Amino acid sequence: MINYNEVSVSFGKFNVLNHINFHMEKGDFLHIIGPNGSGKTTLVKLLIGLLKPTSGKISIDETVHMGYLPQKMNTKANLPMTVLEVIYSGFRKQSIFISKTDIDLIKYWLDKMEIPQLIHSSMMFLSGGQQQRVFLIRALISDPDLLILDEPTSALDPSFREKFYHMLYEMQQQKNMTIIHITHDLTDAVKDNCLTMYVDQTVKFFGTYRDFHEFEHKGHHHV
Ligand code: ADP
Repeated sequence: MINYNEVSVSFGKFNVLNHINFHMEKGDFLHIIGPNGSGKTTLVKLLIGLLKPTSGKISIDETVHMGYLPQKMNTKANLPMTVLEVIYSGFRKQSIFISKTDIDLIKYWLDKMEIPQLIHSSMMFLSGGQQQRVFLIRALISDPDLLILDEPTSALDPSFREKFYHMLYEMQQQKNMTIIHITHDLTDAVKDNCLTMYVDQTVKFFGTYRDFHEFEHKGHHHV
C-alpha cells in the first residue's frame, strides 16, 4: 500500500531525512517515535503530499482515502466555527443542508468521544483537550483507509487516552484501516504485533514492537 524507496529530504543544506526505506501493507498499525526534530512530521508530510522528497520515490495506492490529524491541531486554535461545522468539513461530500443521517453520525461520534453537549459550541470556547477530540472525530468520521495521526493525544487526559487507543485498535480490526501514529508515549498505545519505527534522520529501527524491546535493550533508544 505504501512504499518509501531511498527517500531523502533536505531544507537547504540541512538533511532532515536520509535514505528512508520501508513498506506498509493495508491494515498495518505503525507507531513512529524518535527525538524532537528527528524528521517524524516531515516523513508523514511526504505521504500526504505536503512536501516533496529531495530524492527517492514514494508510492501509495491511488485509491487510498486519507484522514490526517496534523500536529499543529494540538495547540489551542481560535477557530470561528462550531463543533458541528468543523466535523462536517471532514466529510467526503458536503451539501448546504446537513442530512439527518449525517447529523446522527456526528452525534454518535460526539457520544463516543464523550463531548455530546458541545455539538453547537464555538470552537473558540473549548479547552485544548476538547478541541483535540473534535479534530480527532473530523479525521475519523469519513472512514479513511489510511489514518495519519501526529501526536493525537497530547492534550487528552490519561484515562481518555487509553479509551482512544482502544477505539483505534477496534477500527483497525473491524475496518482493516491502516494507521500511522507519531507519538511520544509509546507505552500506553502499543501492542506486541504493531509495527514500530524509530526515526532519527534515518530509520534506525523498523519492525514489530516485540523486536523493538531488543533494540531498546541494546541502548539505541534515546527519546
Ligand atoms: P519531528 O516531527 O521529529 O519533531 P520535524 O519533521 O518536524 O521533526 O522536523 C525535522 C527538522 O526539520 C527540524 O529540525 C525542523 O526544524 C526542520 N524543518 C521542518 N520543516 C522545515 C521547513 N519547512 N523548513 C526548514 N526546516 C524545517
